[in-house]
Amino acid sequence: MERSGLLIILSSPSGAGKSTLARRLMAWDPSLRFSVSATTRKPRPGEVEGEHYYFRDKEQFNAMVGAGDMLEHAEVFGNLYGTPRGPVAEAMNAGRDTLFDVDWQGGQQIRASVLGAHVVSIFVLPPSLAELERRLVSRQQDTAEVIAARMQKSRDEISHWAEYDYVIVNEDLDESTESLKTILTAERARRARQVGLGPFVRRLMEEQH
Ligand code: GDP
Ligand code: ADP
Repeated sequence: MERSGLLIILSSPSGAGKSTLARRLMAWDPSLRFSVSATTRKPRPGEVEGEHYYFRDKEQFNAMVGAGDMLEHAEVFGNLYGTPRGPVAEAMNAGRDTLFDVDWQGGQQIRASVLGAHVVSIFVLPPSLAELERRLVSRQQDTAEVIAARMQKSRDEISHWAEYDYVIVNEDLDESTESLKTILTAERARRARQVGLGPFVRRLMEEQH
């Protein structure tokens, strides 16, 4: 059945688990396309150009913005992050769903864009701030200074939770993954998204039995 592509936005304070959940969702449904953002942040060990991010310097990043190549962009934790427009348009044209790991500013801009009607947004909360800090530390990707800065900003990010369609408190990873799958399955079945449904139902009604 033909269906319009969805833009699935995941946001959370840093460390709540959205990258982990995004990975699990994509393993469950390989047809999902991850929107690879451009960023001026330096790569972490193990991060791959073009897979996790497009790592760019400020000049290159601003040139992309100037050329109108970004669907949205924002400054987060002192670095620039943005969503390249091209792959999103391609996925939409092909009726494919795209997964976004963006902050609240990115969420607001994508919702306000011409693609807003296709957005499903999900906010991931940690069970507590103490647990959030434990996760940031256990990830072993950031210095104590960077972790402290991210903890400082976590309340800012959390304050935007009510702008989202769905909220998941990510306590148990398996349960959170199941919730995400359920949300996606239900959203895909919404009547308004089934662009081929009219002709299908007409044929169904005309069928001889
Ligand atoms: P992590 O999410 O803690 O692993 O750290 P990152 O440096 O990868 O991301 C920092 C923040 O930037 C997170 O809140 C991301 O959701 C957000 N982010 C990543 N890509 C984009 C983007 O393209 N646009 C916007 N607005 N935010 C982004
Ligand atoms: P984010 O992308 O939101 O910054 P990550 O997905 O990188 O967060 O998760 C941060 C850390 O917490 C990782 O080490 C991850 O394995 C761990 N984590 C994620 N979800 C859970 C959970 N439900 N319970 C325990 N640890 C988790």
